[in-house]
Amino acid sequence: MNQLLIATKNKGKVHEIADLLSPTGIKVISLFDIPNPPEIIEDGLTFRANAAKKAVTIALYTGCLVMGEDSGLEVDALGGRPGVYSARYSGDHATDQTNNALLLKELAHVPPEKRTARYRCAMALADKTGCIDVVEGACEGVMIDTPRGTNGFGYDPLFMIPAHQKTFGELPLHVKQTMSHRAEALRKFLKLLEKYLAASKW
Ligand code: IMP
Repeated sequence: MNQLLIATKNKGKVHEIADLLSPTGIKVISLFDIPNPPEIIEDGLTFRANAAKKAVTIALYTGCLVMGEDSGLEVDALGGRPGVYSARYSGDHATDQTNNALLLKELAHVPPEKRTARYRCAMALADKTGCIDVVEGACEGVMIDTPRGTNGFGYDPLFMIPAHQKTFGELPLHVKQTMSHRAEALRKFLKLLEKYLAASKW
């Protein structure tokens, strides 16, 4: 069975990516399965740069075929912040709760029509020779002013999909998986992976 190592320790991401890949028969493992993986400093200025760095660092370390995933939230009223700093928006010891609290504080005086935002996701494929390519996905939404729902992770309780009038915290996973930034990137990633597998003896 083909195996893909996801270069992350974010349980929400591993869960969503494994779920999206389940019909393919590809076995998904993550950094939880690698003893003492190297620390990756996410110092890229873009999601693409960070995704590539994660994938290449772990592929060179393990020799495995690796997906590097970097994602985050861009809020228009905040000039695109938190962006690549989404995970550590509220500091080095940030949690989803502290990040959401800071976001609500910063948006406190922003009217509903100016609360547009999007999630972005970059996925890089790398093997022991380096980075193969990077693909991207995005998902448009609106930031609400009170958390709703307990599904998903990160900013999901505040991120509302206008067509549903529900947040990703309220929508079931199978609905998020049809429209999310990660799902869009993964569809492109699978095409990239297919091409890679056809051209190599994985
Ligand atoms: P990364 O691990 O550096 O890519 O940080 C990703 C961060 O972006 C997460 O910790 C969340 O704060 C946010 N994020 C990315 N994707 C999602 C999502 O699907 N739902 C909620 N928050 C997300």
